Amino acid sequence: MADPDRPEPRDDMTPFEAVSYSYDRGADLIELPDDTRERLRTPDRELRVEVPVRHDDGSVDTYIGYRVQHNDARGPFKGGIRFHPDADIDEVRALASLMTWKTALIDVPFGGAKGGIQVDARALTPHETERMTRTYTRAISAVIGVNRDIPAPDMNTNAQTMAWIADEYAAAHGWTPGVVTGKPIALGGSLGREAATGRGCIVVLDEAVAELGQQPPDVSVAVQGFGNVGSWAARIAHERGYRVVAVGDEHGTVHRDTGLDVPALLSERGDGRSLQDHTGADQLEAGDVLTLPVTALLPAAIGGVIDGRNAAGIQARLVIEGANHPVTPVADVALAERDITVVPDILANAGGVLVSYFEWVQNLQQVRWEEADIEQRLTTSMQTAFRAVRAEAERHDVTLRDAAFALAVAKVAHASELRGVA
Ligand code: NAD
Repeated sequence: MADPDRPEPRDDMTPFEAVSYSYDRGADLIELPDDTRERLRTPDRELRVEVPVRHDDGSVDTYIGYRVQHNDARGPFKGGIRFHPDADIDEVRALASLMTWKTALIDVPFGGAKGGIQVDARALTPHETERMTRTYTRAISAVIGVNRDIPAPDMNTNAQTMAWIADEYAAAHGWTPGVVTGKPIALGGSLGREAATGRGCIVVLDEAVAELGQQPPDVSVAVQGFGNVGSWAARIAHERGYRVVAVGDEHGTVHRDTGLDVPALLSERGDGRSLQDHTGADQLEAGDVLTLPVTALLPAAIGGVIDGRNAAGIQARLVIEGANHPVTPVADVALAERDITVVPDILANAGGVLVSYFEWVQNLQQVRWEEADIEQRLTTSMQTAFRAVRAEAERHDVTLRDAAFALAVAKVAHASELRGVA
């Protein structure tokens, strides 16, 4: 039941405390009983592993890795693997929990998990990264599996990383492509997986823009992050006629009021050049991408970037959470008070896990679906989820985040109840 003494949100909440805060608001709306509430809040299993890596010069460093399996009431655990210095146990726990709610909301038969290694991946050579990935895979191989737990890419991991995981897993278990998703196409990856998260963000942007009664050419967009999610979102937004006026990363922001030349930015990135090398646009500070006067802001980098300090400076009417937990609970309240619509992470970036599910299904059936078919299914599922969340928000007169959590928590609680507790 709702706790009248629940603390107010604070900016210094840890990532898991922040996700728990949203979870509790959803659980309040559906009046989830206390015993179920605590059981669904906490992860089922947390594995901590040592990952010693021999560098190319012969020296050895040992990094700490995790695999957190949050909940598998609705199906095998599912979630990405992140190589990042901030991927500590609390962050990985928060991300695992978000996966449980995301898979429920987008209605794929998976639970939620996340993995990570606390490492500055950019300081490693490709050979070092491969050795680290293989050692980590051996360390977690007892808990992953095609019907147990299925990893995928996240920050600083990609299709190549998934290929190494699949290969290492095969050495012990035989070739089992469905053990990871986000693989290269040549190894059973799905067409459309790489673009899926960014594409899903633009489907929900289309929905939110239609609610405002606007058309893409009227809509200016700023994107933080130019990795997998941000670059695909920028590309697809540009193709659909939106005016992408700013793109930023941790080093700076490129900005052009009349719209950036997104294809040029993508091709420069392909040639190994950075946003800062781009000419024909203003170069602004890294944080400026968040506070520009745009219609839609798409944070697609890291968590906690919009908080109590900068929330008042947000000028966008729409915030589409491409990244996981980019808006802190304090900022969430501040944005809601100013009628800024936030499409929450568990909805906005669910396209990735949706097409991961399509990849897993194709692997199990040993078939390949057409890309156009995948894009159509993704669009339909994202629209259905957005409209369900919108209807729930109107029914309770709450934010899209509260509504999304209420729907997701109800589904997981129902599955959990059906499976029972001995
Ligand atoms: P990525 O590693 O491909 O790209 C991350 C981008 O963020 C890079 O452009 C990097 O320069 C930028 N960045 C890093 N630190 C930053 C900072 N402090 N300030 C501004 N920019 C910074 O990662 P990704 O796969 O695109 O993931 C981005 C976010 O989206 C993460 O929060 C991830 O959990 C989430 N997400 C990813 C997927 C997916 O399919 N890849 C799915 C769902 C959610």
